[in-house]
Amino acid sequence: MLEELFRWTFASWYQAFIALWIFFNLLYWSVTLLGQWLFKLLAKRNNLLMVDNHHRYPGQLKKEIWQSMRSIFVFSLQGILIQQGLQYGIFQISYELSWWVIPQIILLFFWNEIHFYACHVLLHRPFLIKHVHWVHHHSKEPTVFSTFSFHWMEAFLLGTVIFFPLLVYPFQATAILSLPVMSLLINLLGHCNYDLFSKHQPEHLLKFSYRHSMHHKKGRGNMGFLLPWLDNLFKTSVKSSQ
Ligand SMILES: [Zn+2]
Ligand SMILES: [Zn+2]
Repeated sequence: MLEELFRWTFASWYQAFIALWIFFNLLYWSVTLLGQWLFKLLAKRNNLLMVDNHHRYPGQLKKEIWQSMRSIFVFSLQGILIQQGLQYGIFQISYELSWWVIPQIILLFFWNEIHFYACHVLLHRPFLIKHVHWVHHHSKEPTVFSTFSFHWMEAFLLGTVIFFPLLVYPFQATAILSLPVMSLLINLLGHCNYDLFSKHQPEHLLKFSYRHSMHHKKGRGNMGFLLPWLDNLFKTSVKSSQ
């Protein structure tokens, strides 16, 4: 089934564009709306703590959704590059399914952490923050709709995360598919603006939703995705008291 879907998707450039556009829309809307419902429910029942707030700017949700749709358009265009890469044998995908998929997913998780950290540090260079990354930072109070709310150039840069694995090794199709799914799920938790583990210190492994909220509020520091390790290593963490 998955093999057939992949083979249809990458049969021509326009099929790649259409399939990725549908895939990312389904992913964005299902994860975002389900997340929004779940957080509201948990907040009511468990007194889930919000990270202290700036206020949303007028029309923020609408703008975040429009910008996310633009990012999905960019990801779909990148689908054409993937299709071309596969057609000319530059990229490779394996359609076998074995237990080997588990270490591959773990490897892609760590690759995603490194790729995001490197891109994010780059995006905070003065020129890029002023002309590109400010679009994402306009949301000082992030929301579940902020996950793909990027300048088109940032969407392109972050979307390149899939290129390197396809170039170096024939990862199983399931592992390749897991990358955008796990990335958006972590992204949702990072932008929900709830402190999901309020009893822990900011450096704690599980405190990533708090860390990314603080990144939006302070506009600097905490450049990592889920793990705090790269921020610790390169001393880019920000403490709440700073
Ligand atoms: Zn940033
Ligand atoms: Zn963010």
